[in-house]
Amino acid sequence: MKIGIIGAGLSGLVAGRILARAGHDIVVFEKSRGYGGRMATRRVERDEMIRVDHGAPYLTGTSDAFQSFLEEMQEAGLVTLWNDHFSYFTDGRILPEMPGRERVPHYMAPGGMISIGKYLGRTLDIYFEEKVGGITHIGGSRITKSPWMLNSTSINVFGVDAVIIATPAIQAYGLISTAQDEFDLRKMISVLDDISYTSAISLLAGYGERNPVDWKAIYCDNPVVSWICNESSKRDFSGDMNLVVHSTDKFAKKLAEADDPVALNVRMLMELGQILGPWAARPEWHQSHLWRYHLPRKSLDMPYLESEDELAPIALIGDYFQGRSMEAAYLSGYKLGTDWVEKFS
Ligand SMILES: Cc1cc2nc3c(=O)[nH]c(=O)nc-3n(C[C@H](O)[C@H](O)[C@H](O)COP(=O)(O)OP(=O)(O)OC[C@H]3O[C@@H](n4cnc5c(N)ncnc54)[C@H](O)[C@@H]3O)c2cc1C
Repeated sequence: MKIGIIGAGLSGLVAGRILARAGHDIVVFEKSRGYGGRMATRRVERDEMIRVDHGAPYLTGTSDAFQSFLEEMQEAGLVTLWNDHFSYFTDGRILPEMPGRERVPHYMAPGGMISIGKYLGRTLDIYFEEKVGGITHIGGSRITKSPWMLNSTSINVFGVDAVIIATPAIQAYGLISTAQDEFDLRKMISVLDDISYTSAISLLAGYGERNPVDWKAIYCDNPVVSWICNESSKRDFSGDMNLVVHSTDKFAKKLAEADDPVALNVRMLMELGQILGPWAARPEWHQSHLWRYHLPRKSLDMPYLESEDELAPIALIGDYFQGRSMEAAYLSGYKLGTDWVEKFS
């Protein structure tokens, strides 16, 4: 069966890998230039190339399926144990850890989180910078013709037998709405209607050579900054200090109304200076990224959603099905992939 997957984030790549191994013909459409979606790494050109994870900074999870995935990633040399707790900033002080928070192993990718996406996607046929703008149900039997057409915004049209939408819920809603007149997908639409997202600004800041700090990351009880990640603790940067700072949802929302978005970066740096000390407000370089769909505010209590029409299968997967994490995204893609292997063998 020819299956079109929209989105090369963790959920889409995991489902694609399972279905490709079972002999299905997989083609993935990704609107950005690279693998991984929110599991993202940016390369910053300085004297030497710097890699910083400006999306999800680590992986953690307890389910058997995700544990097996972490083991596979460790064996492939892509992932390693990072820490089991992080520092906590509150009332003007940095505590070594958050009181009452359980210690759990957190894993990181020395080569950047993007290396996980590259590994998962290496055997898949992926069209990058190919945004799907609409899906059309052609109808009929898939023995004679493809029941689905995927229309990309670069004017290409792709016929497929089945569609998997592996995007954040709001983008999935937009895609399904394009097919609504032609096919009864109203049930899916009504489920998606309920999901909204927090936003976050990721500020990347480099300080050149500095004495290393003794923390790996800090959760912050602060109106502007929610998390500070010491990226240098993940990989050897020859003594250079690079941080990634995530804003709160409330602060990120200001970007939509801001006349001068640069002023928000400055505001985040000032806050960073208050938390870590004046040096942190004056990096050698900085840049930022807005995540409009950072984390789903609520999740659905099911692994994925699919239509009941077996002649024109279509399914939705992603982190918003069972949580708001990489583990949730993994489990959604994994469950759909394994179920469809059985169903369409
Ligand atoms: C700043 C930040 C911090 C985070 N921190 C953590 C953390 O500490 N721990 C944790 O477990 N998780 C964390 N997460 C969440 C984690 O990254 C996500 O839960 C997970 O990566 C979601 O995977 P996904 O496959 O569901 O979706 P995504 O990763 O969002 O993948 C969807 C893909 O679909 C593509 N796409 C969308 N629309 C289209 C279209 N029309 N055509 C083609 N392609 C399209 C997108 O470009 C994207 O690549 C964080 C996320 C962010 C942004």
